[in-house]
Amino acid sequence: MRGQVLLLGGTAEARALADLLVGDGLPVVSSLAGRVSRPRLPRGEVRVGGFGGVEGLRAYLRDHGVAAVVDATHPYARRMSAHAAAACTGVPLLRLARPGWTGPATACWHRVPDHDAAARVAADLGRRPVLTVGRQPLPHYAPVLGGHPALVRVVEPPDDVPRAWTIVRDRGPYALGSEERLLRGHGADVLVTKDSGGAYTWPKLEAAAGLGVPVVVVDRPEPPVGVACVDGVPAARAWVHHVLTPAGSAR
Ligand code: NAP
Repeated sequence: MRGQVLLLGGTAEARALADLLVGDGLPVVSSLAGRVSRPRLPRGEVRVGGFGGVEGLRAYLRDHGVAAVVDATHPYARRMSAHAAAACTGVPLLRLARPGWTGPATACWHRVPDHDAAARVAADLGRRPVLTVGRQPLPHYAPVLGGHPALVRVVEPPDDVPRAWTIVRDRGPYALGSEERLLRGHGADVLVTKDSGGAYTWPKLEAAAGLGVPVVVVDRPEPPVGVACVDGVPAARAWVHHVLTPAGSAR
């Protein structure tokens, strides 16, 4: 019996990879943080909830005979990626992170290193921001943009937000037409986003470009040093097969 493949998930790529590996007959366990109330689930076994830091993850790897880990968490899930890098001593680890966005719609982008800078730049650029950075970073925006009539789009409701803000709960994939209506309907004069990559949330950037709305883009955190990285599901699938194939055996 081959050891378990632990797939740190919470992304479309993680689901796609789990589906393929389960189809390949491999013992895959997908791990979700448990932040979203009705998550889209991959095929195969799923566990939910944090491991309890680096030590907890290390214990999980040992107790479950994990033979390989694929960190397919979101490009901005910095802590989970760092924990995986620290815990996977002696267990092969691969980072799967979809590429960041490029293209003509990126012409009106203002790249910033973090959420605090994004809040400041957004305040300089407009009065009616649309924030699409997720729920957790919102405390970085409230001190600067709390008095602005911001439209804030989130999957799960935030705990406590300024009264001037309007919360819209929604989850991608989004379409160009509805993104244009959202920006136009709010009278948006600046859009704030992470460089999430992928197709699910790309239409807002095309909509912003078409409407002449400037975009503030929070750069990705640096990936953990020394961890092998691929940017696509087929390469991650090939890596898993490679590390699970005993040396010297023909496939
Ligand atoms: P994070 O800040 O990097 O991680 C915080 C803690 O959450 C981790 O230390 C870990 O707890 C737990 N955790 C995170 N991902 C986990 C997973 N896949 N399985 C088990 N525990 C996990 O993570 P985050 O940015 O809050 O993201 C949480 C989840 O949402 C991730 O699965 C990510 O892929 C997904 N997601 C994130 C974003 C984003 O923009 N950050 C966007 C879309 C989806 P312990 O220390 O207790 O192990």
